Amino acid sequence: MNSEQIEDFGSLVSRAERLLVISHIRPDGDAVGSLLGLGLMLEELGKEVNFVLEDGVPLVFCHLTGADRVSRKVDGIYDLIIVVDSSDIERIGSVLDEYGEPDVNIDHHPTNTHFARLNIVKDDAVATVEIIYDLALTLSYPISLPVAEALLTGLLTDSLGFRTSNTTPRTLRIAADLMEKGANMQELYRKAMLEKSFEAVRYWGQGLSRIKLQDRLVWTSLNLEDRRIAEYSGRDDADLVNVLSRIRDTDICVVFVEQTDGTVKVSWRSQPGFDVASIATQFGGGGHKPAAGAEIRGDLERVQEEVLEATRKSMGRSGKS
Ligand code: AMP
Ligand code: MN
Ligand code: MN
Repeated sequence: MNSEQIEDFGSLVSRAERLLVISHIRPDGDAVGSLLGLGLMLEELGKEVNFVLEDGVPLVFCHLTGADRVSRKVDGIYDLIIVVDSSDIERIGSVLDEYGEPDVNIDHHPTNTHFARLNIVKDDAVATVEIIYDLALTLSYPISLPVAEALLTGLLTDSLGFRTSNTTPRTLRIAADLMEKGANMQELYRKAMLEKSFEAVRYWGQGLSRIKLQDRLVWTSLNLEDRRIAEYSGRDDADLVNVLSRIRDTDICVVFVEQTDGTVKVSWRSQPGFDVASIATQFGGGGHKPAAGAEIRGDLERVQEEVLEATRKSMGRSGKS
């Protein structure tokens, strides 16, 4: 991100009246936080803003201001379309299919494909909300309490509560500034990251009951039957991968989640020194070195076999499970 890009962004915004902000499917805290944080900020500048997430806002982020205004489809005509926290255009689903290339892409994934007219990509940012915070500082956009809450949520969730290795003193200074603007960090942390539904923890139980460990690689899977038994309503892993990543003396963990559309959602997490984004990109996905994902067509068993083989290879190991 250079000063020319920030200026370009500022002039695009100042010329636009009707703006659309979009983020990725299966939205996480950074997707929702950057969507709402940027959108509400632009509204305070007097813009008309619409918010779109193809999958809607997950329950754990529904307390954020503006969450009830997020649509699942794009409707109407816009002067400026901004996509946030999405490494490629497929990540937002099919909501823009009739609209063509977006105007602005704001993101922090090293695997970003620069799919918009203006691409503001900073891969050392802990979260996309950090880039939005920097845009606000440079362009003197206001950070109200609802904006601060949205931005702090993105910062907390993508850094796993300031635990990831890319967390810097500056990350904490931004968080401190957002707290000084009135955001209640403990409350935001509890709602977005700590609290789980009973069904989600029961769903973890299904996955944990068949967890495997081999040569510092840990994995498990969640099939549609597990989801039914646990009465879990989401189609994600309920964050089980972040439970697996806590197991001592392991390098990489993988969770496979069977989907109803004939694909498998795969999530990788790794310790420093391993790059799971490069494995995910082999399967059409993406992400960061320590955290990556992909949606892979095929049945659970076959996808699991292929992914584990590629993962072992990248770890410099081979052998069958
Ligand atoms: P997840 O495993 O879904 O929590 O995602 C971990 C990281 O990988 C996040 O930064 C995601 O944005 C990214 N990611 C997940 N799935 C995909 C995908 N299909 N394509 C590109 N990036 C992905
Ligand atoms: Mn995200
Ligand atoms: Mn992010």
